[in-house]
Amino acid sequence: MDKIPSEKPDTIHPEISEEEEPPSKSSFIDEASLLDEYLKSRNDRDKNTISERSLSFLQTFFPEATIKEWNSWHWQIKNSARSIEQLARYIWLSENEVKPDGPNSQSLPLRISPYYISLLDRNNPEQALRKSVVPVFDEFLLHPGEASDPLSEEHDSPVPNVVHRYPDRVLFLVTGFCSTYCRYCTRTRMVAKDKCHIGVKVWEAGLNYIEQHTEIRDVLISGGDPLTMPDLHVEYLLSRLRSIPHVEIIRIGTKVPAVLPQRITRPLVNMLKKYHPLFISIHFTHADEITPEVTEACEKLVNAGIPLGSQTVLLKGINDDVQVMKKLMHALLKIRVRPYYLYQCDPVVGSGHFRTTIEKGLEIIRGLRGHTSGYAVPTYVVDAPGGGGKIPLLPDYFVGREDDFVLLKNYEDKLFRYPDYST
Ligand code: SF4
Repeated sequence: MDKIPSEKPDTIHPEISEEEEPPSKSSFIDEASLLDEYLKSRNDRDKNTISERSLSFLQTFFPEATIKEWNSWHWQIKNSARSIEQLARYIWLSENEVKPDGPNSQSLPLRISPYYISLLDRNNPEQALRKSVVPVFDEFLLHPGEASDPLSEEHDSPVPNVVHRYPDRVLFLVTGFCSTYCRYCTRTRMVAKDKCHIGVKVWEAGLNYIEQHTEIRDVLISGGDPLTMPDLHVEYLLSRLRSIPHVEIIRIGTKVPAVLPQRITRPLVNMLKKYHPLFISIHFTHADEITPEVTEACEKLVNAGIPLGSQTVLLKGINDDVQVMKKLMHALLKIRVRPYYLYQCDPVVGSGHFRTTIEKGLEIIRGLRGHTSGYAVPTYVVDAPGGGGKIPLLPDYFVGREDDFVLLKNYEDKLFRYPDYST
């Protein structure tokens, strides 16, 4: 096995790229004031944002903690709420929310970072963000068609933790840990035991498989959440993948920038940008997640040349409304995250209360397409059960044919005859 790379020795200013270095001695500008200005801007740049809302939460519930501690992702993980009793310290819980921590316990563990708790409405169990992370009794109800592995990922797994479904790309599940668990998680089976990181040794079979299969040009690293791993482990994985000649692009799927923006540190970003072309898909649920902290985290990633896309799960009572979805898509574009996928909620066990009809998803796409920038319209997909893969769905704009014309409807439902014949 290759050695895990040792962390690079810290340079004096590890976060400064060459083009940002202070001017050389030959410069005619007053060096002292320039250095002052430079250090000030560097301090400003490195100062992590804390929004008023989170600051007030910190002062109320963690009066002993400093802002520096709050902005440490390790502190955030250590102080996450992991039980209903702990959560009850911060928010008033409804009867439906209190029940899950009973003797049967919930199938998916509870974990919410203090930062994300600070975004929850203390008194309103119907708040969108709260419904996405606070367990409710409905999780214990089983509905027809639900399964623990609804996408049959394990069936398409030639070696542990690798899902090879499409010819030229694989999904690499590198950890079962997330900093905050979404109640509708497709991989409940994998994160169910709240186990910690799988560990680098277990990745070997997957890395060898990718090495041996020259048709694989795209690797999506997911989990769990890969960005909850230490920098050293993320870098080990990226460097191993980057050393495989046929792997052209690497993607990371994560919810960390939305639930634990403190994790997006300068050292992490400086490390990530060594492994281009690297793409990051971020799981966003609602516009209320786009806080100053999240804006800053995404800005750091984009400024490092990492294209960001969003993945959103369509969820009943959370974002199943045209205006709510439009607001999220607009908010994402403003922070330079390109809306990518809107997923139909997978039929994982206990997710019935989150699922909408497919007509609802089509209604949302119809309400976006033509009514706002094309960049703000994600691709709506259903992941077919049994490993059928993603099936894109579009409202019917094609009405039919009349001789040498097709009949098409536009976004305003107006009918058009379009000449369509070959000569
Ligand atoms: S971040 Fe992703 S893997 Fe983790 S709980 Fe949410 S949906 Fe599941």
